[in-house]
Order: sequence, then structure tokens, then C-alpha cells
Amino acid sequence: MSDDTLPDPDSEPYWDGAAAGELRYRHCASCETVIFYPRSLCTHCGAPNPDWAVSKGQGTVYAVSVVHRAPPAFKGQSPYAVLLVDLDEGFRMMSRIIDVEPDSVSIGDRVRVIFQDGPDGRPTPYFTPA
Ligand SMILES: [Zn+2]
Repeated sequence: MSDDTLPDPDSEPYWDGAAAGELRYRHCASCETVIFYPRSLCTHCGAPNPDWAVSKGQGTVYAVSVVHRAPPAFKGQSPYAVLLVDLDEGFRMMSRIIDVEPDSVSIGDRVRVIFQDGPDGRPTPYFTPA
């Protein structure tokens, strides 16, 4: 995980959404760009303060990698599957799939977001088969 995932004033509404069971992203009204992970400036045209929107949480697996040797922060959790998911609204995010055998996930599978407490105790988006 990069520092992008730490809460800051730009991402606070995102984490508030996660706590409320909503996967939030941003949408630029000027150029129609979908922005994720949320930022305070449009990543395409630089317009300030893009609109917040709520994803339906449905997407397609773009890539999957099964982790057998977990880093220290995730000790005892392997094996698990790390996914890149293309959400139907047009953004891609990294997460993990849960409630299913990690080896059973394939590129192209349909998944939906669910929220569980993450490693730091905050409600965090994960995916499960749709
Ligand atoms: Zn824009």
C-alpha cells in the first residue's frame, strides 16, 4: 500500500463513505474524467474540487495475483488474492477478494465490493464474487 491510502483532508470523504458502506470516487464535471484514488484536483485537466460520486460497487477482475508469502503486516493471512478491479463506472482499484478460495478467481470474473475492517481497523473495500 502506498501513502495514498492514508487518510488526509482529500481522502476523508472516501473513508467516511467506506464507513457508511459506500465506495466513493470523484468525477470531473469539466472534462468527464473519473478520478480514483480520490484527489482534490482532476488528474486530467487540473480542475479543482471534482464532484464526489458513489460507485455501485460492481466490477470485473482485470488482474489477479495470489500471495503465498505475505509481508509482515499481513502475516498469517496468506494465501490471499490481490486484485485489480475495473469498476463499471470506469476506474480501476486494487484490493483483495474474500469469502472465496484465492485460486478460484480468474481475470474477467464479475465481483462486487463489500466492506470489512482492514489491517488498521478502518472499514475498507474488499471484493467478493458478484
Ligand atoms: Zn477534468
